[in-house]
Amino acid sequence: MEHKLQIYNTLTRKKELFEPVNPPHVGMYVCGPTVYGDAHLGHARPAITFDILFRYLKHLGYKVRYVRNITDVGHLENDADEGEDKIQKKARLEQLEPMEVVKHFTDRYHQNMDQLNVLHPSIEPTASGHIIEQIELVKEIQKNGFAYESEGSLYFDVEKYNKKYNYGKLSGRRIEELMQNTRELAGQEEKRNPFDFALWKKADPKHIMHWPSPWSEGYPGWHLECSAMGRKYLGETFDIHGGGMDLLFPHHESEIAQANAATGHDPVKYWMHNNMITVNGQKMGKSLNNFITLNEFFNGTHPSLDQPYSPMTIRFFILQAHYRSTVDFSNDALKAAHKGMTRLFDAVHLAGKLKPSAQSSVDVRSFGQKCYAAMDDDLNTPVAIAHLFELAKIINQVNDGKERLTEEDIKWLQSFLNTFVYDILGLKDEKSEDNSELIGYLMETILKIRQEAKARKDYATADRIRDELSKLNIVIKDTKEGATWSFK
Ligand code: ZN
Repeated sequence: MEHKLQIYNTLTRKKELFEPVNPPHVGMYVCGPTVYGDAHLGHARPAITFDILFRYLKHLGYKVRYVRNITDVGHLENDADEGEDKIQKKARLEQLEPMEVVKHFTDRYHQNMDQLNVLHPSIEPTASGHIIEQIELVKEIQKNGFAYESEGSLYFDVEKYNKKYNYGKLSGRRIEELMQNTRELAGQEEKRNPFDFALWKKADPKHIMHWPSPWSEGYPGWHLECSAMGRKYLGETFDIHGGGMDLLFPHHESEIAQANAATGHDPVKYWMHNNMITVNGQKMGKSLNNFITLNEFFNGTHPSLDQPYSPMTIRFFILQAHYRSTVDFSNDALKAAHKGMTRLFDAVHLAGKLKPSAQSSVDVRSFGQKCYAAMDDDLNTPVAIAHLFELAKIINQVNDGKERLTEEDIKWLQSFLNTFVYDILGLKDEKSEDNSELIGYLMETILKIRQEAKARKDYATADRIRDELSKLNIVIKDTKEGATWSFK
């Protein structure tokens, strides 16, 4: 493999050459959504960031197992160990069974991800489907002495753990600071220290979702599911764990602690975190009225939006920033992104129509190399896109006769753009997708001409039409009523 992919590892705080534990296999785990509401921009960014990584690793020839979980139990309000389960709360308000809430919002999440052209993960496990694995993991942690029981709940003993390992190695937080900052929190009497976190919570009588365990009828702590499911599907040590920066502490820090407490070693080689999204310069929040769901973007229904923005505009805009930088959403920025994307796709289409010259006046292949070099540099999509715009300029110049390309270079260019724009960046030309009506009309006309050829026993023409369409993955079926067509 000639590529040398460098990725920034949050754990070591530097860019490192990516070397999987067991090549060519790559195990990759990304924290998925807690499914109690519609997906918003904050969901789009990690999904797209790690979709790019998934696509690029596959492009480099790795066999990637990508696990992205669905949190359907155990995630309490305010990401703390107190308060109501987020899904249970929604179920109570809507008078639904919690699993109805889970199904409804999981379906809507999948629909949004498809719209954003985010590839499906290899495995999408749910927390509620892995209660046994979570209980087994807690038993190991308890056996090794890093957990204590209190009123039927089980807590992770952070102070004891920190004596042997380093709690805070990922986030850079120190336990002494945590002790000062969290001393005042009320309602945590069950814990020895306020920064201890729940491994198992005893369910109070009102709690709907609960399971039997050696400690009590209850439910698992939020951080547990990712530790248990990552280990089950990717092994005790796997390559990449990703998620938003908001999950770094306490969620990912606690995952590392749980794994060390159970197995004695770190679970993950490379930790990757995408930065946050702001809207008009402000952090997103329900109270700020800038908490815009993806469906509101696609339909333009939120009051702060001037117009609808297509899924690909959102995707392109997110890719125009490096995943470790913040992104600020505004109407102007989205309109500019849409314009830029249109310009890029116009050039991609134009590349298919260029007339060849005997010699090339410009080295297009060097731009391709620059695009790949940008991806190798910690997935630097904004730089890659900047090089694509330079290519777009050249394509226009060749079309205007100001630059020249040989037939070979044109072919290379077309195949490069196909791979890079569609497969690696995962962009789709939404304009050409809207052509279904036109395609339907054209197909009807073509089939009519073919029927007429058959009627006058011109089978050569009829067969030729069928064969040519077959090259476009269109299948024609002859029936008694006439011919029908479909995509292969
Ligand atoms: Zn997680």
